[in-house]
Amino acid sequence: MRRSFYQQLAQDSISGKEIPRGIIRRVLTGERVNLLRLLDAAFEVREKFTGRVVKIHILNNLQNGHCPEDCHYCAQSKVSAADISRYPMKSDEEIIAEAKNAYRSGAFRYCMVFSGRCQSRKRIEHLAVLVRTIKKKYPIEVCVSPGRISREDALILKKAGLDRLNHNLNTSRRYYSRICTTHTYAERIQTLRAAQDAGLQICSGVIVGMGETTDDVIDAARALRKLHADSIPVNFFLPIRGLPIKDARGLTPEYCLRVLCVYRLLNPRAEIRIAAGREFHLRSLEALALYPANSLFLDGYLNVAGEDRMRTLRMIRDAGFTIQSEHKLDELINKNGTELPENAANRIVVKNLNKLRPAEKSQNKHSKKNRNRIK
Ligand code: SF4
Repeated sequence: MRRSFYQQLAQDSISGKEIPRGIIRRVLTGERVNLLRLLDAAFEVREKFTGRVVKIHILNNLQNGHCPEDCHYCAQSKVSAADISRYPMKSDEEIIAEAKNAYRSGAFRYCMVFSGRCQSRKRIEHLAVLVRTIKKKYPIEVCVSPGRISREDALILKKAGLDRLNHNLNTSRRYYSRICTTHTYAERIQTLRAAQDAGLQICSGVIVGMGETTDDVIDAARALRKLHADSIPVNFFLPIRGLPIKDARGLTPEYCLRVLCVYRLLNPRAEIRIAAGREFHLRSLEALALYPANSLFLDGYLNVAGEDRMRTLRMIRDAGFTIQSEHKLDELINKNGTELPENAANRIVVKNLNKLRPAEKSQNKHSKKNRNRIK
């Protein structure tokens, strides 16, 4: 495809035009897509609305497991046989200590996640006290993922100072019943609308690689555009052992990047987050994901560990980006001592003779054997 095709994509996205489905399909699956030009187009949009800044999120899994829902992708669901650690809601001290740690680690946002269909009014009121305390103590944005919520309960959290509420769409309306049967896509939309009615920003994302079609990926992106989602975490399915969905389907590093570009082009002003599966599926192309996306999770996901935090921070800096935080990226990296010259020198290993002349070694062995045979 010609350079002008990519320039047009960026222009249309920036001017607010909804790029037609046929073109988006080509972007996702076309054989002649030039990945670097596509990334450049997505980056033009990203830079226009979000600069070269990365927002770091840190998740806190407030309670783990024991969920009565049957989301087939989730290690905490009633149909999961995944070997995870299950526990009831953490103590207030633990939750606040983790908020402090998130703030000190450079996080822009602290995300508190509950398992379960929804939370009781008592739990929401408890959560409101926690939100108020955290917001008073630390200059950090707070997001809560409580499951389904009513407008009234969302209002309680909003009044306590909550910034954002997360409830993922996960996939398209069409495919939803294939990944969950205990609640519906329409109920998910209702929760997002209730949060918006209460004045909260909404965070709602997808999981790609669960067997959906490319049209499902496009439908979900368009649905989020229609909802004016403020934040869109794009997860790439992680096939944890014991889940009903056994494999991640169709995910290559290039396809993951194309998906991120599509989400940026269709949602130009949104915070697009490279979420779960970043390290696992993007592999050596991970840093390129920062061109369409402007946000990521540090320190892993709900039940899956992420890469070493220093490696992620260095990746952000090496790719020419910075972070939105009260802490400077260089200071966070230097604080851990990984940039000291003596440490760097320790990581440089001089090759020994076996590594320098591996063939010579096996030849020696061979000729020794022959000599023994002759004797
Ligand atoms: S409702 Fe949430 S915690 Fe429960 S199974 Fe679904 S995704 Fe997992």
